[in-house]
Amino acid sequence: MEYYAGPVARLIEEFSKLPGIGKKTAQRLAFHVLNISMEDANALSEAIVYAKEKTRYCSVCANITDVDPCNICRNESRQKNLICVVESPKDVIAMEKTREFRGFYHVLHGAISPMEGIGPESIKIKELIVRLQQNPVEEVIIATNPTIEGEATAMYISKLIKPAGIKVTRIAHGVPVGGDLEYADEVTLSKALEGRREI
Ligand SMILES: [Zn+2]
Repeated sequence: MEYYAGPVARLIEEFSKLPGIGKKTAQRLAFHVLNISMEDANALSEAIVYAKEKTRYCSVCANITDVDPCNICRNESRQKNLICVVESPKDVIAMEKTREFRGFYHVLHGAISPMEGIGPESIKIKELIVRLQQNPVEEVIIATNPTIEGEATAMYISKLIKPAGIKVTRIAHGVPVGGDLEYADEVTLSKALEGRREI
């Protein structure tokens, strides 16, 4: 970093904190920013701060939203007795793109991973249980990723809520094992949803 002017080094440092951005890409982005107009630079930095300030977790489903409850939770025409449980807000986008699912969501913000010290209390499972106690729900579709962590999370939730007489299903493995929901194409995800089985 000693080759760079101080402010440039700082910019590279910040970019390299982003996911999937290595030192080389961070450098490329930093030099790109130095070439854009002051107006574009302001727009970029303001968009980052604005997105941070104006968004929060929906108090119902924990999806990222600028209005609370979120637009999905506010939608009266959706199927009230159906909740799809996903790991991240990106998975909600993936499911919505299929246009097959008309129920509601619950975003866990992670998956149980004893290896990484992420227990059930670290993700939004408690919030799901409270929600199920307060609302009549017939079926919970668990659409966590088909990874070891995603499967463990699915089993944990299933054991917790089945005694309440709620049908628990798991989406089929059209999604490649170890892959993320967000990378599954819409047709694959539609099929996985359609082929869900009770667990
Ligand atoms: Zn919501």
